[in-house]
Parts: sequence; C-alpha cells; structure tokens
Amino acid sequence: MISFDNTEIAFKSKTDNDLRRSYMLFKTLAHNSLVRIGGALTQTAIRMQVPINWIVKPTIYKQFVGGETIAECADTVHELANYNVKAILDYSVEGREAPEDIQAAFDETLRSIANAGMEPNIPFAVFKPTAFTTANVLTKVSAGQKLSPAEATEADNFRNRIDMLCKTAHDQNIPILIDAEDSWYQNFIDEVVEQMMVKYNGKRAIVFNTFQMYRHDRLAFLKKSLQKAVDGNYYLGAKFVRGAYMEKERERALEMNYPSPIQPDKESTDRDYNLALKFCMENIGRITIFNGTHNEYSARYLTELMQQQGLKNGDPRVWFSQLYGMSDHISFNLAHAGYNVAKYLPYGPVKHVIPYLVRRAEENTSVKGQTGRELSLISKEMNRRSQTKR
Ligand SMILES: Cc1cc2nc3c(=O)[nH]c(=O)nc-3n(C[C@H](O)[C@H](O)[C@H](O)COP(=O)(O)OP(=O)(O)OC[C@H]3O[C@@H](n4cnc5c(N)ncnc54)[C@H](O)[C@@H]3O)c2cc1C
Repeated sequence: MISFDNTEIAFKSKTDNDLRRSYMLFKTLAHNSLVRIGGALTQTAIRMQVPINWIVKPTIYKQFVGGETIAECADTVHELANYNVKAILDYSVEGREAPEDIQAAFDETLRSIANAGMEPNIPFAVFKPTAFTTANVLTKVSAGQKLSPAEATEADNFRNRIDMLCKTAHDQNIPILIDAEDSWYQNFIDEVVEQMMVKYNGKRAIVFNTFQMYRHDRLAFLKKSLQKAVDGNYYLGAKFVRGAYMEKERERALEMNYPSPIQPDKESTDRDYNLALKFCMENIGRITIFNGTHNEYSARYLTELMQQQGLKNGDPRVWFSQLYGMSDHISFNLAHAGYNVAKYLPYGPVKHVIPYLVRRAEENTSVKGQTGRELSLISKEMNRRSQTKR
C-alpha cells in the first residue's frame, strides 16, 4: 500500500531555506483574520495601483505560482521532472471579460498548448472556459434563456474558441483539461465539452471535462457521460475534483431561492468522489482518469483500485494531480512509486493571479484545515534533516 509519510522523498527538491520560507508562510496563513485582512488589502492595493509585487512575489506567489510567463516556469518544470513529477501550466488570470482580455487569454492558451507540445515534461494543457466569453452569456445559455442576437453571436464565438483550442491540442497530441467553476455556467460548458469529445476523442481521451463531486448530481452526470461516449464510440476524459466554490454556491442558492446544487455534507462529497473513481476504474477501457485531489484517502484509494484491476502503476489512463505548493507528500511519494503525477503550475502577472492566491490562502487557513497538515509535514522534515546533520 502506498504511504505518504516519507517526508525525505516529499521534500527532496526543497532546500533548507525553501522549507523555512514555506513554514513561515503556512504559519501566517493559519491566522484566519490575517488572511481575511491581507486578502482585502491586496485587492484594494491593486485597485488603487499601489505596487505590491515586492511583498507578494517572494512570499505567497513563490509558494503557489510558477512565474509570470511560460518561460519563467521552465526552471520549475525541470526541477519537478528531476523527481518524475510532471507539470501542467495553468494561466491563472481570472474574471476578465473585455474583448481584448478574452483575446489575450485565448492567445496565451494557444501558446501554452504549443509549449506543452514541445516539452515532454508537460503532459496536459488546461484552461478555464470562463476566460473565453462573458458571464452573462454562460449564465443565460446554461439556464435555457432567450438570447439577443448579439448574445447568440457571442455564444457561437465561445463555441468556436473552445473548438479551436481543442483542435490545436488534438493536432499537437496534447490532452487538454477544461476546468469547472460556478454551477450556473456549467450546462453550456458541459454541452460544448461533449461536442469536443465527440470530435477529438475518437482515438484516445484528448478533451477532458471536470466533474465537481461536491455537486449532488455529478455521479449521475458521469454515468450519462460514459453512456454517451459508449454510444458515440469515443473516449471519456474525466478530471475529478471535489469543487472549490462551495460557499458561493450555497449563498447564491439561498439568495435566489433555489435548491443548492451542493451535497448536504462533506461525507456525501467524499462518498460520491470515491464512487466516481470506482465507476471509472470499472470502465477503464473507455475512460482516462485525472484524480485532482489533496485528499490522501482518495489518492490512495485510486492506487488500490488500480491494483485490483491489474493495472501497472504507470498506466497511461490514470493520472494524479495536486496544486503546486501543496501536498508534495502525496505528489512526490506517488511519483517515486512510479504513478503518473502532474502538478498544476499556475502562472501569470502578480496582480492578475491574486484571486487564485486568495483562494489558496483561504483554503489554507486553520478553519479549512490544510495548514496543520502542511506545517506538521514541513516541521517533520526540518527535524529529520537536523537529526541527520548531527
Ligand atoms: C489538480 C487540481 C485541479 C483542480 N481544479 C479544479 C477545478 O477545475 N474546479 C474546481 O472547482 N476546483 C478545482 N480544484 C480544487 C478542488 O475542487 C478542491 O477545492 C480542493 O482540491 C480540495 O479538495 P480535496 O479533494 O483536495 O480534499 P478535501 O480537503 O478532502 O476536501 C475539501 C473539499 O470537500 C468539499 N467539502 C468540504 N466541506 C463540505 C461540506 N460541508 N459539504 C459538502 N462538501 C464539502 C469541498 O469541495 C472542499 O473543497 C482543483 C484541485 C486540484 C488539486
């Protein structure tokens, strides 16, 4: 059975200074009030054009982000590759929908696909579909509302942009992950992603949809997605996550008076997450699994399912992934044991990746519980190193 306890393997790529810096950072993130105030101050400073790079870049940015550009991420990609950990470059600029921003995100995503095509240590490309149209169009189409002629044109533009990205990935033979965000955009995104799978997944899974298992309808949706793949004779690319926007989902449902799409409790999310992995493993002939989680049980459980099914550790249809800067004990121990592992490596200009960093900071406060684990792993490794130096 795989163990995630070996901190020597987990932190082999980190110098003593790296570990001390991470320790200080996670210690700071453990204070909820600091995270809340820091997040608000940073966003205000950016709005008022107060320079913040000097404080953000050497601290939280360095922990969770690869660099401002694809080129700046190259050293990190190679460093990870030394330990058999691959990287997925994720252009993490969010919430911008002016036509020039959409075009810029589109051009950048094309560059990242081309880069992945040339770099064996980058096995996937990725994008957030919300970067390629307006929130208004995604919401209206998803809700089945009538569109104005201009909105209908924009919806077609969205379809065409996604098609061009998936076609480029297909031509470069690079699988492409399509992230999931708010549920009120997802119907339209699911529809387009399924069309892309029909077009590009005939020989293997190139296009991947994301299943957020904190939604109570996603296990049924997964089963339907597989049935369509079987009927249409294509492969299903399935990226699994629990889901990052739970509070926002629940608040909106309450405010707008509709039933929350979110599971009633964490146990239900965990149950469906693990059932989804099991379902996919039972149908591995037609599915490629991308297990995006920091949950030790879900990572280990998939290794057990692989063993039961007689799959080799490095079977190309099974991938494990964690975010850069988090849960190295899972990533590096899995990679050491020969499993396919790729870290999501976000990149982008400091001021544009702030929403991503605020989410990471919030996820790592003492309330949400990740920090305790990161801190105890880092201090375990610092102690181990100081013992061996004696
Ligand atoms: C490689 C990778 C890619 C990702 N891509 C996306 C993406 O495209 N879209 C996206 O939304 N997120 C994405 N995430 C984030 C992910 O959804 C989770 O927020 C994060 O990974 C924490 O969940 P976990 O499985 O790691 O572990 P855990 O810490 O075990 O689970 C925490 C999660 O459980 C769920 N949860 C917690 N409390 C409750 C409750 N009371 N009721 C119901 N559910 C609850 C929430 O989803 C919460 O985030 C990604 C994460 C990774 C590692």
